[in-house]
Amino acid sequence: MAVDATQPYDDQNIFAKILRGEIPNKTVYQDEFALAFHDINPQAPTHVLVIPKGAYVSWDDFSAKANDAEIAGFVRAVGLVARQMGLVEPGYRLLANTGINSHQEVPHLHVHLFAGQPLGPMLVR
Ligand code: AMP
Repeated sequence: MAVDATQPYDDQNIFAKILRGEIPNKTVYQDEFALAFHDINPQAPTHVLVIPKGAYVSWDDFSAKANDAEIAGFVRAVGLVARQMGLVEPGYRLLANTGINSHQEVPHLHVHLFAGQPLGPMLVR
C-alpha cells in the first residue's frame, strides 16, 4: 500500500527495523550517514536501495529537515556505492518515490539504484 509522505515518521517501518538490526539485509555499503543493501525483490540485475541512517519519511522530509552533513553524507554515499559497484561506465538509474502517486511503499527515504542491463527510456506508466 502506498504511504502518505506527509505523515510523521513511523519507527516500525521495515527499513527502521533493518537499521536497528532487527531484520537481516544484504549490505553493500554503510557509513555514518547511509546504508546500502540489495532490494529483496529486484527489478533489474542490480537493484540496490540506499537509505539515510536518520529517520526521514521521504526525499521531501529529508531535504527539508536533515542537516547539511546528513545531506552531503547521504548524497556522497549514493555516488560512492555506484562507483564501488562499477556502475558509472555502463550506467545506472536512480529513483526516489515520494508519497501516494509515486506508490512509495516504505516510509523511510530510500533511493533505488538500478543497473546491470539497458534500462530503456524512463517511463511514467
Ligand atoms: P518503494 O515502492 O519505492 O517504497 O520501494 C520499496 C522497496 O523496498 C521495494 O522495491 C521492495 O522490494 C523493497 N523491500 C521491502 N522490504 C525489503 C527488505 N526487507 N529488504 C530489502 N528490500 C525490501
